Amino acid sequence: MKNTTETSENNRNITELFGSLVFNDTVMKEMLPEEIYASLHRTVAEGKEIDMNVADHVAKALKDWAIAHGATHYSHWFQPLTGITAEKHDSFLTANPDGSVIADFTAKNLIKGEPDASSFPSGGLRATFEARGYTSWDPTSYAFIKDNCLCIPTVFRSYGGEVLDMKTPLLRSMELINRETLRILPFFGLGDVTRVVPTVGPEQEYFLVDRQMAEKRRDLMLTGRTLFGARPPKGQELADHYFGAMRPRVKAFMKDLDEELWKLGVYAKTEHNEAAPAQHELAPIYTAANTAADHNQLTMEKMKILAEKHGLLCLLHEKPFEGVNGSGKHNNWSLQTDTGVNLLRPGKDPARNKLFLLILTAVISAVDKHQDLLRIAVASASNDRRLGGNEAPPCIVSVFIGDDLKYILDAEASGRDPGENPGRQRLNSGVQTLPDFSRDTTDRNRTAPMAFTGNKFEYRMLGSGFSVSETNVVMNTIVADELAAFATRLENASDPQAEIDAIIADEYNAHSRIVFNGNCYSPEWEKEAAERGLLNLKTTVDALPYLDSAENISLFTRNKIYSENEIRSRKEILYEKYCKEIAIEANTMLEMARRQILPAVIDYSAGLARSCYFRAKTDVTGARSCTEKLLLDRIDPLSKEMFTDIDTLSKAVDDSSKTQSSSERAAKCRDEILPAMASLRKHADSLENLVGSGYWPFPTYADLLYGV
Ligand code: ADP
Ligand code: MG
Repeated sequence: MKNTTETSENNRNITELFGSLVFNDTVMKEMLPEEIYASLHRTVAEGKEIDMNVADHVAKALKDWAIAHGATHYSHWFQPLTGITAEKHDSFLTANPDGSVIADFTAKNLIKGEPDASSFPSGGLRATFEARGYTSWDPTSYAFIKDNCLCIPTVFRSYGGEVLDMKTPLLRSMELINRETLRILPFFGLGDVTRVVPTVGPEQEYFLVDRQMAEKRRDLMLTGRTLFGARPPKGQELADHYFGAMRPRVKAFMKDLDEELWKLGVYAKTEHNEAAPAQHELAPIYTAANTAADHNQLTMEKMKILAEKHGLLCLLHEKPFEGVNGSGKHNNWSLQTDTGVNLLRPGKDPARNKLFLLILTAVISAVDKHQDLLRIAVASASNDRRLGGNEAPPCIVSVFIGDDLKYILDAEASGRDPGENPGRQRLNSGVQTLPDFSRDTTDRNRTAPMAFTGNKFEYRMLGSGFSVSETNVVMNTIVADELAAFATRLENASDPQAEIDAIIADEYNAHSRIVFNGNCYSPEWEKEAAERGLLNLKTTVDALPYLDSAENISLFTRNKIYSENEIRSRKEILYEKYCKEIAIEANTMLEMARRQILPAVIDYSAGLARSCYFRAKTDVTGARSCTEKLLLDRIDPLSKEMFTDIDTLSKAVDDSSKTQSSSERAAKCRDEILPAMASLRKHADSLENLVGSGYWPFPTYADLLYGV
């Protein structure tokens, strides 16, 4: 009995908490006059410019609601090209001429903001003398309160109108895929659908370490990853962390996190431990792509802030610890109609579900044609450390669909009848009321970059710290571009039903090379993928030149997602980001090596040398082979190597900083700085295993990984 009461108590709390800090539809309906509410709804649905009278009412309601919920400030909240969110707080207070103050917030405050754009990346889109940039209210996302501040979701543009944020292209790509899918649906008896929305559920991995320990490491504090550190005696070999019982501090953190996210209307659902020690995962319930992108940003931000409150540090870096699995983010993606149909749901008989097969084929062709864009969407110096390392997909983009669906598509492609629901036969459970088509058979392969997992595609190459925006801009755009071509064929066909089969066959025949159901981590796959002609862009520096290829410029401009200038500027920003990230790491390493590690090694060696000296005074022959001497003989060459490494790295950093072109600078970072960093680390890590633990200047891997 007690349990039931507790459960219902919890449920009540959750439903009460959920969305309590969001100015959502229910609140709007309650607070806005009926005709204003209706007008706002029309604006959002039709994407029209907002009426000033409506904005006035919304601003007043927003202010009253926010102040009643404890807000003192407001901010335009946006996602510049840094990949994180930005906000500039203004107080609601306005001074009267008589010196008294009132709380004020007008339509103008709501609609437009002018942050100084010069401190956000523009990749050359904005001349430095033209610092102005505009944020403008995005009425399609709900405003919310975070830390006593009313956050108004906005988009961010330059003075000249170029897009400087990650949100605008995402919204454009959602419009695009809506439009193109709606052209297809009438051919399948779904003419009643008026809107199709890409849905996204990003699974988020992260590490939690003890904050006091982490603060002793400049690398963790400045770069989010360990730049030094010998392997701990126990790593993840035993796989005893995954889904294991949670430490009390972690549990308390997760409870807090859930509650804070629920208040913001984020559908945080599952939390569990991950494969590596100190690693965890949070998965939300999926929602519309733009909301999912906002919510994922809020999730990452809340993780960092709440970790601090619990004496922890949350690491969202893709590879915080060498030799231990890094963190990724899985982008689950599908298409959903306003009538509630998931277009990637195979149903009970996928062989007869032609709409499903057509959408599936569109994704397969799109991924094959645009492997480069999917790779670039997840390209960064930090993610380069994780991809291809037998813990995350390789740098070869391929699609997993499972044997049963492959069987059906192979049959379609050769004009054969696949027969009676082969997937179902293979399940062989003998139960008549089977659930939908073999979810299980499509859920096993964990190595594929783009995997069909039952009713959605899961893209697994994103790094944990990434915004999901770019990936979904690419997914929406490339799939929409395929669907547009399919729709044109169907619209021109004399027999649309036969044309559906022809499209599936043509497209699958042309693009089935991208389908691979085997182990993507195996070296054989790398060889076979090369034979199939698939791209294998191992580093960010290899991938970025593809971004502004003629095909990609044509794809993005004809679909009005990015202008040519915007594409080139994004490329420039990605190069810059790559170089900066590596330069900061290199400089942090240099400082740690020069000012912490070498002094510690010298200190320890000095003690050994003193001991040798005293031994020699009493026993000259014995001193030559005493332990201190043997240890010194090992340490000394390593510290000399380290000394040389420091010089080499320092020179490489100087050299690259003098290189003008960003692509050449990035190549120098990859080819000169990264190898110099690796060599310095190797020698320092060997020294860590020789120098007394009391001398080592910062916490070790074992301290960090098992310290919570
Ligand atoms: P599991 O992987 O544990 O079986 P699911 O496959 O149900 O769990 O979900 C994994 C993630 O995929 C969750 O974040 C979930 O919200 C998301 N997801 C599920 N269905 C869809 C969908 N139709 N569109 C987008 N994301 C989805
Ligand atoms: Mg997953």
